[in-house]
Amino acid sequence: MKQPFIRTKQPLLKSIPIFIGFLSNFVILKAAILPTIPYFITMNEHNIKIEIDNKAGFCQGVVNAIRIAENELKKGEKIYCLGDIVHNKTEVERLQSLGLITINYEEFETLSDCKVIVRAHGEPPSTFKTAKERSITIIDATCSIVFKLQQEIKESKSNLNAADSEIIIVGKQGHPEVLGLLGQVEGKAMVISSVKDLETIEKFRKNLLIFSQTTMDKNVYADVIREISLKAECRKIGITNSICKHVLNRKDSIISFARNHDIVFFVSSSNSSNGMYLFNICKKENPNTFLLNSAEEIDFSLLPNIKSIGVSGATSTPMWLMEQVAERIDEFLSKR
Ligand code: SF4
Repeated sequence: MKQPFIRTKQPLLKSIPIFIGFLSNFVILKAAILPTIPYFITMNEHNIKIEIDNKAGFCQGVVNAIRIAENELKKGEKIYCLGDIVHNKTEVERLQSLGLITINYEEFETLSDCKVIVRAHGEPPSTFKTAKERSITIIDATCSIVFKLQQEIKESKSNLNAADSEIIIVGKQGHPEVLGLLGQVEGKAMVISSVKDLETIEKFRKNLLIFSQTTMDKNVYADVIREISLKAECRKIGITNSICKHVLNRKDSIISFARNHDIVFFVSSSNSSNGMYLFNICKKENPNTFLLNSAEEIDFSLLPNIKSIGVSGATSTPMWLMEQVAERIDEFLSKR
């Protein structure tokens, strides 16, 4: 008979390997080692390991934005969010079912006397100006790391001599965070997405100050910086390491996670840059990696002859969604 979930708390951290050894083959072990680092391994009657990546799930910026939205929704007022609160369709739908209304910029400009959430990516100053003019109360859920970067870019602009200096933001063209960063300098910065964008630039003659989007791939950032320095004929290049540590640390961990499993189900929406970045790393390391939006998309025909299944996701993937995927696989394997 299938055993119930067992949850362990932090004091049992050291005894977890013993738990796994002691309980394997007949019990599901689902432990919350730390409140923010959930952990889930199951080896049921089917004797196949299913593991949720303990480094996957929401980053602090997204957790904070969702907490703010949930608290506002509890007040029972009409709450709008400018853009998807997180790049995850299922989580957006969950919050919409609680009453959160997602709007775009055109809709935002027609509203007045209401509350609008600014998500973790942040917004340019023009959004706050529009809100003021239209008596819109902004509930600011900008991630503190993004906010700090916005301030750094803004301050660097006021300290620079525009005639002989230039700001470069390495990030995805049109990404909301990049638009928010650009807005701090009235759009007066160059956005570079990859080395390819530098092909048409012959030389950099002005002094440069380089920042990156917080979710930028560190290798792409390093390549862009290398290429810029080769083309630089200026006196100074200032480089800020503005990649978020949640993103930096995930790259190495997803590589070892991918190696440790026969198959990996990567749960993420395809509009999440961080999700696609991590999915591609995982797929490169383990070609048996598959992208899912939700448990409904699991292809069970992939599971024969598999001994170890990994479930991972982006910083925008809710833990409950990865748990659903793991539980659905576990149910399927138990019934076989
Ligand atoms: S990835 Fe980092 S910077 Fe971006 S929202 Fe999350 S915690 Fe903030």
